[in-house]
Amino acid sequence: MRPFPLEPEALARFVRQCRELEAGEWIFESLTSAEAAGLVAAGSDRGAGRPGAPGEPPGPRTAVESRPDLDGNRLPDDYGGLKEIALTCTRCRLAEGRTQVVFSDGIPDARVMVVGEAPGANEDRTGLPFVGAAGKLLDLLLASVDLSRRSSVYICNVIKCRPPGNRNPRPDEIEACAPFLRSQIELVSPEVILAVGTFAGKLLSGSDRPLGKLRGEVYSYEGTPLVVTYHPAALLRNSGWTRATWEDFQLLRKVLDQS
Ligand code: SF4
Repeated sequence: MRPFPLEPEALARFVRQCRELEAGEWIFESLTSAEAAGLVAAGSDRGAGRPGAPGEPPGPRTAVESRPDLDGNRLPDDYGGLKEIALTCTRCRLAEGRTQVVFSDGIPDARVMVVGEAPGANEDRTGLPFVGAAGKLLDLLLASVDLSRRSSVYICNVIKCRPPGNRNPRPDEIEACAPFLRSQIELVSPEVILAVGTFAGKLLSGSDRPLGKLRGEVYSYEGTPLVVTYHPAALLRNSGWTRATWEDFQLLRKVLDQS
């Protein structure tokens, strides 16, 4: 069997979740089915639950401090009030082309908060973040570390309205929408934040480094541990990032277990 650098317990958990979600075998480029099965068996023998005694994550960095306000007025301290304001927001040009504001999915008292980039066509139509193929991949990756938007994860985006043609969000749009995200983080108060994609990674880490250099470390967003990884939509287009993404989710799990 070729050497595989990941913990057998973690791989076992991931393969088990792949089977439960009927996700096929797309993720492992460097393992045969027999090798994966062998590692699953090893992981089962050693207990395929959450990893025990995780190693220390890299040292934290401090993100830019911020305060959630809107035009000088502090946003509501209650979640329902915040959502109500966001759903009718017209603070930037993206209000003109949206079908609806995409505020969040998952549970507001989640342990983990996933922050993506902006709604796409499916999200604009359904009103939920991370639906379609990228959403399924995110669910699979979360399941691989025993997390779920139904029980332990809150999901939202930096930008709440769909940019036309799925173009990148513009700096003034990010600035206009950021108070909602900051308030969401404050009210959900997650134990760990996972930023997926360049825009969320840069905004929350306060670093301008490219995503490939940003990932792999643990940052601090105003005291909350922050892990950065690739966006699932980008991962679907570039399978070469699969291993790095897998490692980032393992890091997320370790940080969560240490919190
Ligand atoms: S993207 Fe954000 S700031 Fe712009 S209209 Fe939508 S909710 Fe308001």
